[in-house]
Amino acid sequence: MPPVVQKYGGSSLSDTTRIKAVAKRIAARVEAGEELIVVVSAMGKTTDELIGLAREITPVTEGREYAMLLATGEMVSTALLAMALRDLGHPAIALTGAQAGVYTDNTYNRARITEIDATRIRHELARDHIVIIAGFQGQSPDADFTTLGRGGSDTSAVALAAALGAAQAEIYTDVDGVFTTDPRIDPRARKLHDIAYEEMLELAAQGASVMHPRAIELGLLHEIPILVASSFNGDVEGTLIRKEVVMEPANRVRGVALDSDVAAVTVRAVPDRPGIAAQIFGALADAGVPVDTIVQNASVEKLTDMTFTVAHDDWRKALAITEPVAAKLGSGQVIIDHDLAKVSIVGTGMQSGVGYAATMFRALATASINIQEITTSEIRITALVSAKEAENAVRVLHEAFQLDEPAEVQT
Ligand code: ADP
Ligand code: ASP
Ligand code: MG
Repeated sequence: MPPVVQKYGGSSLSDTTRIKAVAKRIAARVEAGEELIVVVSAMGKTTDELIGLAREITPVTEGREYAMLLATGEMVSTALLAMALRDLGHPAIALTGAQAGVYTDNTYNRARITEIDATRIRHELARDHIVIIAGFQGQSPDADFTTLGRGGSDTSAVALAAALGAAQAEIYTDVDGVFTTDPRIDPRARKLHDIAYEEMLELAAQGASVMHPRAIELGLLHEIPILVASSFNGDVEGTLIRKEVVMEPANRVRGVALDSDVAAVTVRAVPDRPGIAAQIFGALADAGVPVDTIVQNASVEKLTDMTFTVAHDDWRKALAITEPVAAKLGSGQVIIDHDLAKVSIVGTGMQSGVGYAATMFRALATASINIQEITTSEIRITALVSAKEAENAVRVLHEAFQLDEPAEVQT
């Protein structure tokens, strides 16, 4: 029987009572004869607290020591969970990412897993140990701690499931599965029975924090189904992220995502000549600032406005890099808008259907929500709106596409 890889998120491990409850769930599966590898996140809001500590010391929230600091959170959970399992009479061993053979590149705080050497994990399994691994972390080529970006322990779990030949990755969290939108924003959100990798990837990339986007990419690449379910509510069936979706018709919107982590940078009156965009975005890339959407207006008298969006945390850096480049190019002012959010509708049905954009824009207009920018992919339409209107926009779109109503079941 292939081993089982489970992951428990921070809210599932928020205190020692929850850790003991999770240990009992794991023990029950092991007593039923399964071999378990368990990936854990830091307890509760520990990662936020560690970030807070760093900020009390310095505004520089990146680099080697910052990664090392954040990695401590997951190590606390591994040790406590292994101790709880031993207390229940089950031999368990806690491993850091490095001890588990998780190797990454050397981007300290947005590292990508490059290789997993599962020798140690296999050795521990052969000794009948339950293996508890610190998620979100790995080891750089220089043997330093790296972290995978916020929410990254989902990615650790899926990568380990692929490396160990697990039948699926089980992600346990504080909601019953993947919903049509964040149930904390719209209580009418409905749990999905299953969802295709491509749709979940778009939702996650556009802010549905229930899964880390890179985890879905790895699931898709290695064809590992990912089960998202509740660690609190054992009786509820979760959501399966997989290739073929059988329970919902493809011709409808599957979900609405909200990303509140957005700032827009506008460079006014940019000279309309070749090579300008390359200079601005080249400088941002050299400084390691990821740019999300880019919109350039039509040129009027050889001058255009260029707007791009970055993560909220990056706006100061983006401004500091863009201003001198804009001045050198003879552009106008650089303007920042940091009270923005992106609201997206996602569904593979959009590839073949018509009218999705019309319905979306009509619904937002009826609610007097102004759209500042529109971007699309084959299976997504995204509107940039003001942050204060964003949650209402999510509810308006959820209603407009009737996502609270169960879809007809296809058999
Ligand atoms: P964990 O600590 O288990 O990793 P996260 O907080 O990262 O948990 O992810 C779970 C949260 O994701 C939920 O509490 C919910 O508020 C949020 N969320 C956002 N979009 C969705 C969605 N479409 N379906 C379910 N939960 C969502
Ligand atoms: N503890 C990390 C975070 O809060 C990783 C994770 O929870 O997935 O982002
Ligand atoms: Mg998470």
